[in-house]
Amino acid sequence: MAENLRPLSLKREGDGLKIEWSDGITTYTAFQVLRTKCPCATCNEERGKPVDPFRILTPQEVAAGAPTPLAMTPVGYYAYQIKWNDGHDTGIYPLALLRELGEQK
Ligand SMILES: [Zn+2]
Repeated sequence: MAENLRPLSLKREGDGLKIEWSDGITTYTAFQVLRTKCPCATCNEERGKPVDPFRILTPQEVAAGAPTPLAMTPVGYYAYQIKWNDGHDTGIYPLALLRELGEQK
């Protein structure tokens, strides 16, 4: 990824995030994908465990429904911290990850 690549705009579109990048490319990432790929230590650990087919959703997850960001806060020039509607807010998404997860439009 180019050193100076940055988002010109971030917008909610349907159930996903649309980003216009400084190189003229627009990407779209479903919130579900963003939430699943949360790069924080807790989520990394969860992903490392075998999936429990009988796992029961936590009350917060049930109440929250589909993942939706409540806030996206820039962290320096390189990342965004996303606060989710399920209360999770420790994920800091580097621009490179946002770019990688995005489907080009
Ligand atoms: Zn996380």
